[in-house]
Formats: sequence, C-alpha cells, structure tokens
Amino acid sequence: MWWYLSFVGEKGWRGGCYVYVETTDLGREGVFAATMKAHMLKINPGGTVAAVPKPPGAPDPEPHMQHRLLNHKDEGLNRADGTPLVGKPEHCECTACRGN
Ligand SMILES: [Zn+2]
Repeated sequence: MWWYLSFVGEKGWRGGCYVYVETTDLGREGVFAATMKAHMLKINPGGTVAAVPKPPGAPDPEPHMQHRLLNHKDEGLNRADGTPLVGKPEHCECTACRGN
C-alpha cells in the first residue's frame, strides 16, 4: 500500500514523500510502517508527520515521485489531506527553500 507522508517542523513544511509498505493496516501499524520506511530510506526530514494512505482506486504515484523526499516544486505533490499542493506553502522549509 502506498502512503503519502507530509512533514512539518517548527518553522513550516519540510517536505513530503510517497512510500510503499507491505502492510494493509490503515491505522497505527500502517502509519508506523510508512514512517519507518521513510526513515530507512533517509527521506524523513523530521518533524511532525501526517500520513495518508492512497485512496482506493487512485493511481500509484508516478515513478519519479516514489521513495524520495519531495519539495514544493515537485509537480503533482499532494497536501496531507490529499488535495494537490499548488505553489509554495506559506511557511516552507523544504529542501528547495533551504537551498540544498
Ligand atoms: Zn519550499
């Protein structure tokens, strides 16, 4: 199951990522597995995580969007609630904004 993770730090949004985990649990187990996967892939920028499972019937994330830390410049990125992220968040400390 694909999950979208969105990370928010003290100063703003830090980025998001799509990760795939084997578990089909949509509760704590699924959130934990997805967060651990991001940690193992070193694409967890820290902060508070919001985790959203891919809605049934929704397409898989594009291959170039999978398993990497995304920033606000990535096309097709979603907010934590699943709606498309368009433009720069009001408070953003993603990798593009930090300049690395
Ligand atoms: Zn940014």
